[in-house]
Amino acid sequence: MKTSSFRIIALPTEIADAARRAVSAGSADHALITVDSPESSPCRHCLRWAQPGERVILFPYTAIPSGHPYSETGPIFVHANDCQRYSSTNEYPADFRNGRVLRAYDSDYNIIDAQVVDGSEPEAVIESLFQNPNTAFVDARSVTRGCFTFRVQRA
Ligand SMILES: [Zn+2]
Repeated sequence: MKTSSFRIIALPTEIADAARRAVSAGSADHALITVDSPESSPCRHCLRWAQPGERVILFPYTAIPSGHPYSETGPIFVHANDCQRYSSTNEYPADFRNGRVLRAYDSDYNIIDAQVVDGSEPEAVIESLFQNPNTAFVDARSVTRGCFTFRVQRA
């Protein structure tokens, strides 16, 4: 059996479902978009690129809670239709092996390290970030747009 030192945490289903309800209710900060190009809209729930023609919801998500210097709310996509939450928690998501930056946070939500994984092995980068005992979790973000993609915790 494959073991890994980390767990991949996709967006909770409750948050994806709340976004789907909000867009149905016409919430001003939830936009319904039809994807027109591949690898433009990563779904944070199933951790796959939405395909051209699929509909996604764009809405602000608080990845780092308020009340901290590194507090951060930013735009994310989820599929507009139901999708299955990413469940291969011991495997780095295949769709996001490039174009991500991995930020290490301590338990007070301060960024203490960051490494770009473009062209490198993300598993090795995660392992090296977790070698610092102060690393509480690691967030994967888009290296170009900066948007939160998923969280990584210690196994
Ligand atoms: Zn999805």
